[in-house]
Amino acid sequence: QTPKKPPPPPSPLRFSKFFQSNMRILVTGGAGFIGSHLVDKLMENEKNEVIVADNYFTGSKDNLRKWIGHPRFELIRHDVTEPLLVEVDQIYHLACPASPIFYKYNPVKTIKTNVIGTLNMLGLAKRVGARILLTSTSEVYGDPLVHPQPETYWGNVNPIGVRSCYDEGKRVAETLMFDYHRQHGIEIRIARIFNTYGPRMNIDDGRVVSNFIAQAIRGEPLTVQAPGTQTRSFCYVSDMVNGLIRLMEGENTGPINIGNPGEFTMIELAETVKELINPYVEIKMVENTPDDPRQRKPDITKAKELLEWEPKIKLRDGLPLMEEDFRQRLGVPK
Ligand code: NAD
Ligand code: UDP
Ligand code: UDP
Repeated sequence: QTPKKPPPPPSPLRFSKFFQSNMRILVTGGAGFIGSHLVDKLMENEKNEVIVADNYFTGSKDNLRKWIGHPRFELIRHDVTEPLLVEVDQIYHLACPASPIFYKYNPVKTIKTNVIGTLNMLGLAKRVGARILLTSTSEVYGDPLVHPQPETYWGNVNPIGVRSCYDEGKRVAETLMFDYHRQHGIEIRIARIFNTYGPRMNIDDGRVVSNFIAQAIRGEPLTVQAPGTQTRSFCYVSDMVNGLIRLMEGENTGPINIGNPGEFTMIELAETVKELINPYVEIKMVENTPDDPRQRKPDITKAKELLEWEPKIKLRDGLPLMEEDFRQRLGVPK
């Protein structure tokens, strides 16, 4: 006999919403790159109150400085591996280091963040009846044997490799989301995010787009990791944020791929950055790291059909939008 599913508990805010119709939204990892752009967008709606919980491992208060002191905004220094007691209607759960050099720096902490952190946010969602969105990743497909990757593909992930703390961590996080959904009736949303770029990316996080832009501005060689024929598909951050909000507000649990299907080799990316930012830099081939996926491109049929979403900004248009922000932070004016 299958156990009867308990109804989700009423949100403590549903009652107060009856009077003020405000939406209180928690963004974990909101001081980071994607999180801070998401906060900017959510704050545009005057009915939203936004609470950010972040431990500043890879994020910074600077990314949120325009909201600090705003009456509809709150910033809490908090590590999601510890329980969190707040009353909210929605949770965007982004907290997790996202770039290989940061998530490999303390792999055990990365696993804890993905597993215990997601468990805590689901416990919170359960207690207050909130809807929760997890930012999963295209890395759940590992080094994919199916191309492009649809959501139905189960992936090709090394469970014991140096990337596993992140890939397998996110896979467990997805499992937890679905188990809380099935067992406790929690309203869940899962986004599988593909490589995203834009202003406020960490300058020194080793990601390819931030590396190439910083190198081009400094006049240093662009370091293409061998063989350079590996591919990625890059989504501009404003498109990403719109996709995440669409998913949260819609009726589909996901998982749904959110990314830009335009696919480029790393050599093509280097050539494009060279052309757009600094035609005088050289392109240098350097050694790669283990388990680097050879190709990656989202199949976004589901996002188009179910969310009526698709990215608008082409790589050629998005890259120059990062230049100003990077020049300012690097102290290299044009
Ligand atoms: P980011 O590193 O800029 O942001 C992550 C934020 O989480 C940071 O502010 C960091 O301080 C915070 N954080 C990390 N561990 C924490 C913890 N234990 N407790 C509280 N806060 C913690 O990265 P991002 O690129 O903005 O990524 C945001 C989310 O999107 C992540 O979940 C990441 O896995 C996912 N994602 C990003 C990309 C991408 O290309 N940027 C691709 C796929 C998935
Ligand atoms: N939790 C939390 N905030 C809450 C409610 C729960 O951080 O408002 C954490 C709680 O500490 C626990 C986790 O979420 O570790 C899972 O909670 P759940 O109630 O599902 O499980 P249990 O507490 O019964 O293990
Ligand atoms: N890469 C590169 N030069 C760099 C940094 C990365 O050629 O300076 C390559 C890397 O080998 C990988 C791709 O760019 O094939 C994307 O790497 P990134 O770390 O940005 O993202 P992820 O591997 O998580 O997709």
